[in-house]
Amino acid sequence: MTVSIRAAPLEALCGDIFAAAGAPPDIAAAVAQSLVTTNLMGHDSHGVLRVKQYIMMMRAGMIQPAARPAVIKRFGATALVTNGYGFGQVGARYAAELARQLGQEHGIGAVALGQTAHIGRLGEYSQIIAAAGLIGIVFTGGTMFNNWVAPYGGRERIFGTNPMSFAVPCADGGALLLDFATAGMAHGKIVLARAKGAPLPRGMLLDKHGKPTTDAGILDDGAVLLPMGQHKGSGLALMMEIIPTLLAGQVPISAPEFKYGNPTLMLALLPDAFADASDFGRHVDALKTRVKSVKPASGFDEVLLPGEPEARAYAQRQTQGIPLPAAVWADICGLASELGIALPPPPG
Ligand code: NAD
Repeated sequence: MTVSIRAAPLEALCGDIFAAAGAPPDIAAAVAQSLVTTNLMGHDSHGVLRVKQYIMMMRAGMIQPAARPAVIKRFGATALVTNGYGFGQVGARYAAELARQLGQEHGIGAVALGQTAHIGRLGEYSQIIAAAGLIGIVFTGGTMFNNWVAPYGGRERIFGTNPMSFAVPCADGGALLLDFATAGMAHGKIVLARAKGAPLPRGMLLDKHGKPTTDAGILDDGAVLLPMGQHKGSGLALMMEIIPTLLAGQVPISAPEFKYGNPTLMLALLPDAFADASDFGRHVDALKTRVKSVKPASGFDEVLLPGEPEARAYAQRQTQGIPLPAAVWADICGLASELGIALPPPPG
């Protein structure tokens, strides 16, 4: 069962919940806006589903709600930023803006963000960079509590779901956006499938005995996520575990001083610094047109570009509302009533 709720009241409600739980108003509003935008883009696994989890983390001292990002090291076109274990959305927006600025100054900017809680949807940050006409690349490692993904051929959890995102500016002012977990399925999508009681596609999960399963219900009973694309996704997950994590100054999970979080590397490349910028956008647009013109294979209606599913979800959900599983809406209502916040009129 789902309920449908408009973005604006949902964002206001989630912001009020974070603020009532102790986040400064601007941070509460920024996190709520990021989560609801993620729902609008169709990635419910990283939207307001997270409100309850973040509140629990605030209460457990795992998110420092008033922490703000700060640069702790500069070298040429690079920077190291600490988020002070604050909300990841706040630190990641800051790091993306800084990478964009360094990219505009030097042709390339690279910013590592450490000591940060979950940053949510990576595409938000690569898009911040692309909106200024630069290529945005975001790599993230680690998980919030422990790791979930086995290496190819294995049945033990080693990696986080270690996502990556690329946003390429187009001549029309938009961006081509690729954004996914290197796990076959993001952990949040399995949580969502469990909330809906829906079976998983094959090849996403092993049970505690190492046997393939489509049952999301066993997620917390020793289940192991599989990497996307067999050995290739496994290799990418390994690289995501190393590059952002170590550059952000976080140590591997076996070390006692490891802290949960989403260490992240943001790269910004200015096309103009390499080749003629007008050519870059023009070639991207020509390639998009060519890809869209490819005849669909059997079982497909059309070829989609990366970012198209999100753009379509956004347009639809802006007008028709965001469909939330009843369990997610009930969690949000429960928090609101606990914190003395009035609910908006009942959604449809
Ligand atoms: P996904 O499997 O839904 O893949 C999304 C990507 O594939 C998008 O770029 C989308 O445009 C593209 N895509 C989807 N269908 C397509 C089609 N038919 N043709 C062409 N392209 C298509 O994504 P996911 O792995 O479930 O990740 C969802 C979100 O979760 C992402 O925003 C990711 O950043 C986020 N995430 C965050 C963390 C974290 O720790 N912060 C971890 C995992 C995932």
